Amino acid sequence: MNDSSFEAMAGEIEGLLGIDQEKHAGWHAESIAVHGYEGADVRTGAISYPLYQSATFAHPAWGKSTGYCYSRCGNPTRLELENTIALLEGGKKCMAFSSGMAAITTLLKLLRSGDHVLVSDDLYGGTYRLFSNIYTQYGLEFDYVDLTDADVLAASFKPNTKLVFLETPTNPTMKVADIASVAEAAHSHGAVLAVDNTFLTMYFQKPLELGADVVVYSGTKYLCGHNDVLSGFLVLRDGTLLETLFNAAMSEGNQLDPFDSWLMLRSLKTLGVRLRQQENNAKRIVEALKGNPHVTDVFYVGDPDHSDYGLSCRQTSGFGAMVSFKVDAHERALAVLERVRLVLFAESLGGTESLVTYPLVQTHGSIPKPMLDKLGIDERLLRLSVGLENAEDLIADLEQAIG
Ligand SMILES: *Cc1c(COP(=O)(O)O)cnc(C)c1O
Repeated sequence: MNDSSFEAMAGEIEGLLGIDQEKHAGWHAESIAVHGYEGADVRTGAISYPLYQSATFAHPAWGKSTGYCYSRCGNPTRLELENTIALLEGGKKCMAFSSGMAAITTLLKLLRSGDHVLVSDDLYGGTYRLFSNIYTQYGLEFDYVDLTDADVLAASFKPNTKLVFLETPTNPTMKVADIASVAEAAHSHGAVLAVDNTFLTMYFQKPLELGADVVVYSGTKYLCGHNDVLSGFLVLRDGTLLETLFNAAMSEGNQLDPFDSWLMLRSLKTLGVRLRQQENNAKRIVEALKGNPHVTDVFYVGDPDHSDYGLSCRQTSGFGAMVSFKVDAHERALAVLERVRLVLFAESLGGTESLVTYPLVQTHGSIPKPMLDKLGIDERLLRLSVGLENAEDLIADLEQAIG
């Protein structure tokens, strides 16, 4: 890539090539989330970071620039969001995209035809579809393996393995992988580790500190938190992968637009309170579900009976609000979807509204039957994203729905 398209364009704007990670040193996540990276507007004192709803930027004179030229390359509102997320995550650089899938598709530009990728076997169905339906056509090779099992992982590397793509906790069966040991295995084979941190967010889990190279988000979920904006992010530990990814994003044009960037800045301010309260609600619901005679299994990483509870306690500072459970019959699962009133029967997760989904046909509809069988994703499994309603109301609703 030549100077005019990267260094020159990026070099003049603080943060485009990476942030000052010491900025706001000593502040906790809540303070950074509320005040942002630059924070209030220097020119006017506006508390809310300005929305630069502009596609292009005028140059003061020949050879002079404000640093910005065109919003596909850089936009101040998007940059403030990216820098705030990079600071929260403990990364050097964040890139904001129009969706989680847009972020993941750009991540794959690290690879070349003939490269091999190891992927969590229990993962978001859309990611599976992108990999297996789209990118296999371009000569990339994917193996879906149980990355929560160190022996399976060690045996799965190939000489051309360039990327390990991990989702933890897994979706929807809530298994937990040891990020530090997956990072060590990936690096010893010369591969990059990317962790999809959508379920817990940096508020509860910091993959970069555990050795990951890239953190991936569907920002549509907890980072947005209100079921009203699609967004995605890549957060890079250091500058190693930046030029390739920046070049890819700038060429593909799948960045987050200014208005949605502004909405996401607003969303982030309440990340901590939302997650804490959603987690409290989830714990109450898990207790109720475990006591329900029609519920046969409950999968929640914060349940002390969960097989990976010890690992979660070591690796994360919280457990989030994603809960899967099985009822005793297929008909009952369908009845729950029909009978819920406060909880909504809808795809997605992480927002203020509690949602229930049916993974078998919704989020995981693209995944082949043998893989679903192996993972235990069956016709009795339901997935709950616990929101911010009153916990007693939620429990009452679920109990009447389960019947
Ligand atoms: C939703 C989701 C994605 C995809 O993100 P979009 O914003 O819907 O494109 C990726 N990974 C996980 C874990 C998700 O839940």
